[in-house]
Amino acid sequence: MTIGENIQTIGERIRAAEQRFGREPGSVHLLAVSKKHPADAIREALAVGQTLFGENYVQEMTEKAAELAGSGIEWHFIGPIQSNKTRLIAQTARWVHSVDSFKVAHRLSEQKPADAPAINICLQVNISDEDSKSGVQPAELSALTAQIAELPGLKLRGLMAIPAPEHDFERQRAVFAQVRALQESLNAQGFALDTLSMGMTDDMEAAIAEGATIVRIGTAIFGVR
Ligand SMILES: *Cc1c(COP(=O)(O)O)cnc(C)c1O
Repeated sequence: MTIGENIQTIGERIRAAEQRFGREPGSVHLLAVSKKHPADAIREALAVGQTLFGENYVQEMTEKAAELAGSGIEWHFIGPIQSNKTRLIAQTARWVHSVDSFKVAHRLSEQKPADAPAINICLQVNISDEDSKSGVQPAELSALTAQIAELPGLKLRGLMAIPAPEHDFERQRAVFAQVRALQESLNAQGFALDTLSMGMTDDMEAAIAEGATIVRIGTAIFGVR
């Protein structure tokens, strides 16, 4: 299968899952995760109309963004963030899914180019992977959301999660349901979060069942890394 065919197949799976789980048609967006794949692979995806691309490493994203300048790509940064790399992220990414501290959020807000629109932000929640150091603890989410929502250079859009790998569909779904409940609780407190960034190659359907609006798919599009 070519990259173009893979994108077509994933698109069909997304539309089928929207229908099966009563989601509005077109409410789930595909983020093509191109980390460790070359710019030519991205060009193949662009050729079939894919415009949202996700990268995990700052240097790799900025190099590809330079090589593919003018191609209409919307870059999403989804990897761990070191605070000394925030300026490069703020200059390139329209979305950052992996914010988990006020310090990083504040720097992104300050370093956004003055003529660029607010950077779309998701807070990464540490939902089931206790071993992971990334992600906000659910108990700390409300206070951090209130702080970050005030930053002028950012537009706080929602939550992102990378659950611990789990093969059973219902168990995948139960974890995503927790993320959805956190978003609903924040919105009940007066925030207006419209984004759930969750679901990867192996758990995409379960995430869509629980309200994902962005699924982040790498392997099923570009092959193994
Ligand atoms: C690599 C990665 C993905 C894509 O994972 P696949 O299993 O290859 O689809 C999604 N989200 C994040 C944060 C990643 O690091």
